[in-house]
Amino acid sequence: VSLAGRDLVRIDDLSIEEISALIDLARRLAPVARGEVVTRVLEGAILASLFFEASTRTRLSFGAAFARLGGDVRETVGFTFSSMAKGESIADTARVVSGYADVMVVRHPEAGSVQLFADAATIPVINGGDGPAEHPTQALLDLYTITEEFRVLDKPLEGAHVLFCGDLRYGRTVHSLAKLLNLFDGIRFSLLSPPELSLPDELVALLEDRGHEVMVHTRPPTDAKVDLVYTTRIQRERLEEEMTIDLDPGLQVNRDFLARVGTKDTIVMHPLPRDSRPGALDLSTDLDDDPRLAIFRQSDRGIPVRMALFAAIMDVAEGIEASFATPRWRSSRSFG
Ligand code: ASP
Repeated sequence: VSLAGRDLVRIDDLSIEEISALIDLARRLAPVARGEVVTRVLEGAILASLFFEASTRTRLSFGAAFARLGGDVRETVGFTFSSMAKGESIADTARVVSGYADVMVVRHPEAGSVQLFADAATIPVINGGDGPAEHPTQALLDLYTITEEFRVLDKPLEGAHVLFCGDLRYGRTVHSLAKLLNLFDGIRFSLLSPPELSLPDELVALLEDRGHEVMVHTRPPTDAKVDLVYTTRIQRERLEEEMTIDLDPGLQVNRDFLARVGTKDTIVMHPLPRDSRPGALDLSTDLDDDPRLAIFRQSDRGIPVRMALFAAIMDVAEGIEASFATPRWRSSRSFG
């Protein structure tokens, strides 16, 4: 797979063939991600990582993925320490960074802002999350997780019943994943959220127009046994200040919830972070020892997926295994 010089701003930037090729490449790069082999294919290349919004996983995993391919990472975090605090435009920032680095990852609180970076940059720009709009690399790692988990269970993706719950309005990972799953056939989507946080109408229409069954719920469905529960945090930072949401404890994904909507083979995913503050009613820790909870396997998979994307964009994917060498060190990293 080669995506030489391409941007990834929204999931629609990729065809289904390119997506499956990226997932295959991620699988081939998993030994590098696990530290069993090392490679230096990106030696001398620089990633500029520009994060203007809170992040742990996305920022670290992009950086770690680039570094594990032998590249170097330079970062700027937040508006305060960037020249945007001096009134610099996105276009000027993007042009300047294009002279320093070979690829750029940007996270920004406004929908559409990463496209502005891509328009002005001369190097590839990857969207690390633009406000409530999209988070395409999270969708890729989510799809990788779903295919790996379903493979173990010997389940096809086609025909699967997926329950999205939590904040479907402002949760950008759901938006990108819904668009990605929309490319497959015959998926049944159940959408469960407080009414104020329902999936935007245009996304529901997109799924329906492609012939998928879409069911909207404000209470957990009683007659369904779903294959996947994908739950999300309420995106409080995106709610209007005066907006208070009456959270129904019945919507929290926990052991009882899963007993009602799931089977012994139902996978539970969450893009993380999980909001552990009292009253947040995010994914419960009572499922932490349950093997169906895939959240840390999911976050681990961010590394091989982001490595695959960099390898494709920097055009080093073909025959990449020839660059693999044995590491001289041992790591005690653990994998979900
Ligand atoms: N980490 C994900 C994101 O940046 C999910 C979240 O923040 O709730 O969109």
